[in-house]
Amino acid sequence: MSRELWRRPVALAAALLLSVSSGHAGEKPLLPSEPQSLLHVLPTPAKAEWPPDAQRTFIQNKLQPAGVHDVIFRGNCTPIEALDPALPPEVLAALLDYAWLSPQSVSLHDAIAQPGGGFVPVLVTRAGGTLTVRVGAPTTWPKAPERAALVERYRLGGLVDVDTTWSDLELVALDRALATMGPTERAILTGLTFLRDDSDPDGNWGVFHDDRTTPTAYLLDDSAWHAGAQGFDGDPDAPLPEVSTTLLHELGHVFAAHPVRAAWDRLTVERVLIDALQAQHAAWLADNKVYLAAVADWRRRWDVSVAPATRAPEAWPGLKEESAALTRAAAGLQARADVLNALVQSSKACQTALGEQVLTHDVLDAYAAVPGAVPGPTGYAATNLEESFAEAFRLWHLDPDALRALTPKVADWFAKGGHLAAHDAAAARIAAVITSHCAH
Ligand SMILES: [Zn+2]
Repeated sequence: MSRELWRRPVALAAALLLSVSSGHAGEKPLLPSEPQSLLHVLPTPAKAEWPPDAQRTFIQNKLQPAGVHDVIFRGNCTPIEALDPALPPEVLAALLDYAWLSPQSVSLHDAIAQPGGGFVPVLVTRAGGTLTVRVGAPTTWPKAPERAALVERYRLGGLVDVDTTWSDLELVALDRALATMGPTERAILTGLTFLRDDSDPDGNWGVFHDDRTTPTAYLLDDSAWHAGAQGFDGDPDAPLPEVSTTLLHELGHVFAAHPVRAAWDRLTVERVLIDALQAQHAAWLADNKVYLAAVADWRRRWDVSVAPATRAPEAWPGLKEESAALTRAAAGLQARADVLNALVQSSKACQTALGEQVLTHDVLDAYAAVPGAVPGPTGYAATNLEESFAEAFRLWHLDPDALRALTPKVADWFAKGGHLAAHDAAAARIAAVITSHCAH
């Protein structure tokens, strides 16, 4: 009988305590150059719109000193000093907002409110001294998609109301945000649960949690800015509600963390296995107790049968048969212990290997290696490498020209699928670790 003590594996604890938590804070320092968005509120009788001539003069006075010399609208170039009076009012309104808000920013998403409701989405982008203005069709948001359909279409883990509910507009935003993900990117959505909760005391608009059980993305934002029905982001020909900005940022965190998902999942399997082995060990201990009692009883009876005063040779054949049966029982118990011990040792080795893998962040490392990636395209991106990637990921999906203007090599990296290559290489490496270390 083996005397080896059964030892509960301890590697598991260290590996399972790891978790990633990435918030997307509402207080974002703005750089002079970073993308902006705005809702252009219509003038009221109390505060009349400037006359078009005055608007053009203001635009010229603000933009020309800032280095802007041309405006391109529908392929036609208007020198800023001339500023064609025939430009549509939406274009003039967007240029006015751009000049007023930030004449250095690389882009402005401007939702120009319409008198009858809805808005016209206008995107102003800056490249050097040239502004390009793109005007989308008048827009009102569609009916909210069915939640179950969203979950099924993107193979989500769920769509959950916590202390507040997803609004119709937020569901539209989520649908369209998820639709911006490329076919290979969509793999990261499988099993991902989106939760809507009250505003966060720390001011986060969204938070992503990735731990041993399930990846979850929270939408927490309740600011009037993002709740407003008329702000937009993305391409003016395929606009997204403003709140999609937060969702795409969180999806950046989801993407960066996704390669280690398989390691977390396998650690969960190992935890279930260890629980099962613990139950088997308890059963083994009970059987072993019975066996030891039987051995003690046999020895007592054997000692009696060989003692001079109680010598009983007629009992010996039966006792020898019992002895052989006990030896076979011992071998059976030993075999069970060997199997259990081997599984525990193998699981420990697997967990140790996976514990190292869940600490890796290859996507972030690959991103950081791109010249100009750090600190990142926006003020908030400078918080840390995780936020830098999340901001770049968001811009790549919603405002790629802005990303190109801010960090051209990062835009090239996304365009060439650098993020996908980094993700896939990490996922392949982790799959190999699972194959080689977790084959029990
Ligand atoms: Zn974040």
